[in-house]
Amino acid sequence: MNERILDLFTKDALEAARANNTYRSMRLMETPESSRVKIRMPNGASQEQILLASNSYLDLANIDELKQAMAQAVLEWGTGSGGARLTTGNKTPHQELEEFIAKFKGEESAITFNTGYMANVGTISALCGKNDFIFSDELNHASIIDGIRLSRAKCFVYKHNDMADLQRVILEAEKSRAESALPAPRKLIVTDAVFSMDGDLANLPELLRVAKENDCLLMVDEAHATGVLGKTGRGLAEHYGCAHADVTVGTLSKAVAAEGGFVAGPKQLTEFLKNKSRSFIFTTAMAPAVAAAACNNLRFIDAHPERVQNLRDNVKFFCDALRREGVNVDLSPSAIVPIVIGDEAKAMQVSAKLQEQGILIPAIRYPTVAKGQARLRASLMATHTHEQLQTAASTIAQIIKKL
Ligand code: PMP
Repeated sequence: MNERILDLFTKDALEAARANNTYRSMRLMETPESSRVKIRMPNGASQEQILLASNSYLDLANIDELKQAMAQAVLEWGTGSGGARLTTGNKTPHQELEEFIAKFKGEESAITFNTGYMANVGTISALCGKNDFIFSDELNHASIIDGIRLSRAKCFVYKHNDMADLQRVILEAEKSRAESALPAPRKLIVTDAVFSMDGDLANLPELLRVAKENDCLLMVDEAHATGVLGKTGRGLAEHYGCAHADVTVGTLSKAVAAEGGFVAGPKQLTEFLKNKSRSFIFTTAMAPAVAAAACNNLRFIDAHPERVQNLRDNVKFFCDALRREGVNVDLSPSAIVPIVIGDEAKAMQVSAKLQEQGILIPAIRYPTVAKGQARLRASLMATHTHEQLQTAASTIAQIIKKL
């Protein structure tokens, strides 16, 4: 190993991250994902925590019946898929999963990717090329941003959830193109359904209108919406009772508690992605047992809409409890409850104190959110008890008051 050369590539970045408090390291969990976990504390001891930080919103990762179904799928299908989907990797569980996603989402067809990240990157970069226009909400997830970069399309960022600003950037973009010799662009609007650091929702009815009026394709990323929004967890369209976006992306790694991403929509779209999406084509298919687990878990959500309702009730209970304790939060329409502290160092302090008292809620700070907007990002599960949520709300309030 030539340490001097490695230093050239890595040393400055690591030192800068240490100096400006953005150095990242991983927390070690010693038990499976659920509403109570054991983590390794900085002093090496194990400590039990109430987990208010998981994306496993319906708490399906550690249910006996679902674990056994996955174990059975391993026994039947082995440990890996052995090839890409278009070579030898496509097994019965992959097909069953895609059929079930299409049914669950009320779409003609679905295609799966190995992660939600790969679904976003592979879909945007396949749909758009360098002469196209993409209109993107300023708070969209990194995987959308990376997909846009890879597509080389011209990107116009609109103010968060601001439909007037979206209309404004569309007109501005069209004007700039009209003045050039280039052909008329294809236009894509892309947005998160639930914004991952704020927990608020995209305005789907308005986005559908703007897309229609301006001849745009509309793509919505339902990573934090699937299994969460709507009476039965179908997502954003069920929440609003309106039509679906043209392209619905989602993940199987959050409420579904497995792994993988998907795109649901017309068959022509999924056939196109099978032929053109590089993150679908040039990678090994997910393990068949993972596909089987994702499908089993989705069936479980389909059969247990009361779990989605429990999550909704818990979010309301927690937001109400925080407000009763004097903490300023809005009632979240999703499973994500941001508690804005503002100052970066203070947010870190609150999170560390909560952890000492057995409550795990990470602090999110710049560059993930804007400077001075540091926050605790609480996320709820369907299985938290009211007692756990009340304890967390009271403890948060006590710590914030003493800041
Ligand atoms: N989209 C959004 C909005 C997300 O929050 C995430 C995960 N953090 C993803 C996509 C990526 O999904 P996955 O974890 O399955 O790669």
